[in-house]
Amino acid sequence: MVYLSNQIKPRTVLKNIEPYTPGKPIWELQQELNLDKVVKLASNENPFGPSLKGVEAISSGLAELNRYPDADTVALKGAIASSLDVKEEQIIVTNGADELITLLSEAFLDEGDEIIVPSPSFSEYDFGAHIMGATVVPVPFEDGFQFNVQKIVDAITERTKLLYLCSPNNPTGTYLSKAELEQLLQAVPTNVLVVFDGAYSHYATADDYTDGIEYVRADQPILVLQTFSKIYGLAGVRVGFGIAPKSIIQSILKVKEPFNVNSLAQAGATAAIKDEEHVRKSREGNAAGREQLYQAFQNLNLEYIKTESNFILVKFGPDAANIYNELLAKGVILRYGKTWGLPEHVRVSIGTVEENLYFIESLTSILVNE
Ligand SMILES: *Cc1c(COP(=O)(O)O)cnc(C)c1O
Repeated sequence: MVYLSNQIKPRTVLKNIEPYTPGKPIWELQQELNLDKVVKLASNENPFGPSLKGVEAISSGLAELNRYPDADTVALKGAIASSLDVKEEQIIVTNGADELITLLSEAFLDEGDEIIVPSPSFSEYDFGAHIMGATVVPVPFEDGFQFNVQKIVDAITERTKLLYLCSPNNPTGTYLSKAELEQLLQAVPTNVLVVFDGAYSHYATADDYTDGIEYVRADQPILVLQTFSKIYGLAGVRVGFGIAPKSIIQSILKVKEPFNVNSLAQAGATAAIKDEEHVRKSREGNAAGREQLYQAFQNLNLEYIKTESNFILVKFGPDAANIYNELLAKGVILRYGKTWGLPEHVRVSIGTVEENLYFIESLTSILVNE
């Protein structure tokens, strides 16, 4: 049989989509370079491990894998509702917060609509817009990667549907103050949904920080997105959720697959959100690691951005690409800033004391030998 080359054409909007670049997995670098030790500080995971209560709950769920998961995620919604003091009808649970961003895009974006993104930020917002044929309107940060509320408001047009606010922002670690969020909520037209990405909320310690949830309770047109992948340490099972006024949740539920969150993920997350001890220890460990890295960057004369999160944006300078690659060769995986238009920066996830030390020693030896 003779096969003709196929004429199948993907949708034209796919031309605008760049594949996501994940942090290199540890095993891959280990295999490539035959390294014994690899330290991954590239994906803002919890270096102290998952909630053990979550792990236990996952183990107990194994025997029932023949059953479909609960399509309504009742137990998990109950746990989220009581932990955050919101109503169950205000919650949607998703296969990682990434899925929620896709669902939001599917639910609210028509072709030609616009989303506003203070930039640089999390790439999934752009991805969601692009698959729907919507346009991304980036609003660059000010000096020091600070939000500029006025510029964000000025970017709103009749086609604006979603306004993403990532706070603390990935990859900069900077945040939007409570006063600034209130200013925005007041200025934004009522047909624009504010999406407050609080993936790193638990790490923020600034006095004037808000995680945005109080505005959901007050029935404002805001959706707060959170994830179990960061402080709860459950990135591998994929659970995230959104909380918003009921009418918004109902629209998103229309585009959700029934069994989007698997049963192990539901069990793990339900236990992890109650594991306050794990959250507290993770937060404390992060604060200690943050000081350790600040100190090292100061000693090495490297500029960095003060972070409210579990990662730090640091400036390696014009030689950043080389330094990044030399660190990789020594088994230290960071995220290179070029994807965010920051070719002189890298983003370092805060690791355990030992991981940070290995990174600092590797970096020091590279910089000294230059
Ligand atoms: C990690 C992250 C998420 C969500 O991650 P999931 O693993 O898909 O839950 C969302 N927003 C930001 C800014 C993140 O960094």
